[in-house]
Amino acid sequence: MYIADLHIHSHYSRATSKDCTPEYLDLWSRRKGIGILGTGDFTHRGWREELKEKLIPAEEGLYKLKKEFFMDKDYGIEFSSPRFVVSGEISSIYKKNGRVRKVHSIILLPGLEEAELLAKKLESIGNLHSDGRPILGLDCRDLLEIVLETCSQAVYIPAHIWTPHFSLFGAFSGFDSIEECFEDLTPYVHALETGLSSDPSMIRRWSALDRFQLISNSDAHSPSKLGREGNLLDIDLSYTGIWNAVQKGEGLKGTIEFFPEEGKYHYDGHRKCNLCLSPEAAEEYAGTCPACGRKLTTGVFHRIQQVADRKEGDLAGEGKYFEKLIPLPEIIGACMGYSAASKRVQSQYESMVKKLGTEFHILRDLSPDEISSASFSLISEGIRRLREGNVEWSPGYDGEYGTFRLFEPGETKK
Ligand SMILES: [Zn+2]
Ligand SMILES: [Zn+2]
Ligand SMILES: [Zn+2]
Repeated sequence: MYIADLHIHSHYSRATSKDCTPEYLDLWSRRKGIGILGTGDFTHRGWREELKEKLIPAEEGLYKLKKEFFMDKDYGIEFSSPRFVVSGEISSIYKKNGRVRKVHSIILLPGLEEAELLAKKLESIGNLHSDGRPILGLDCRDLLEIVLETCSQAVYIPAHIWTPHFSLFGAFSGFDSIEECFEDLTPYVHALETGLSSDPSMIRRWSALDRFQLISNSDAHSPSKLGREGNLLDIDLSYTGIWNAVQKGEGLKGTIEFFPEEGKYHYDGHRKCNLCLSPEAAEEYAGTCPACGRKLTTGVFHRIQQVADRKEGDLAGEGKYFEKLIPLPEIIGACMGYSAASKRVQSQYESMVKKLGTEFHILRDLSPDEISSASFSLISEGIRRLREGNVEWSPGYDGEYGTFRLFEPGETKK
């Protein structure tokens, strides 16, 4: 079984870490326990050059880091090196049926040659150089057509489909049906990305989406954020294996999810006024901020309620398996009383991974006793509560991540 994270960004994308290099992506995939990682940003020439320099072909349609670029020789190296699959994201901004649409799409390709070909075609349409995730004034339907004409084995996946500002079904600039977006090419879309603020059980509330595979990715802008969502693939290690899993569900065993409450757009709200509202409360205020009178940002939970034709919890169709996790540094931070990015949490994290194995192994497989043998009992208790779903949330809203509580106030002191 491989954990695959297919949507990430390189250091060529805006607002990303300078550490989004092949070396650090490889290192962090090993720490996390990711077997297959998207390269991100294939449209960017500089990134393609870097990938060509630092990766070598591995199994069919996949790449791995060249030996001489491995980092941290004595650390994490024993975990197997991830395979890279060529991927990228395109932001389409265009007018359709009288409204401005802003939709992000993920593309997977079987190799860097195909990436070169597709990038050449897209270069004639817009600027691919200023951002690893380029903005094109290209209708998604036409983008899909160009992608498939260039490479019949390509995979096209609408990204984080509920995000209010930049997605297929987004409240502000999306569509109300998939057919309105892709028209005659709708049958060529087989998979949808859930995004951090929603999980499969929420999406299955809309029967129009029953035929689609649901996949989950981190959309990481720094290597330490890899794998905060991912896909469980029981496949042959090859591009064809990935294609069959994403397009047909063959070997797609399920997904690893963020708690949707942790996502940045779960609830409605207005960040400037520190106001987070449930869909019901937002409707009471008629979608305007009661503090300043501006428009509220409609969250994913509300948006799904607008289109859903099934009640909450009424799954009807057989949804695939999924599990919800919180990244280990955040759990350590909550237990130690420091931020996940702090030095103390980082060093505790690294020591645990060295002694116990990958982050996913720690979060998903090890017993609480095994975990406390290489950390504190508080951390193993935190992970135990996480596995039980015993987590209290203040949901994310309007671009602000949600926050969680694993322990009652005062409980950690004991
Ligand atoms: Zn995006
Ligand atoms: Zn992205
Ligand atoms: Zn406000």
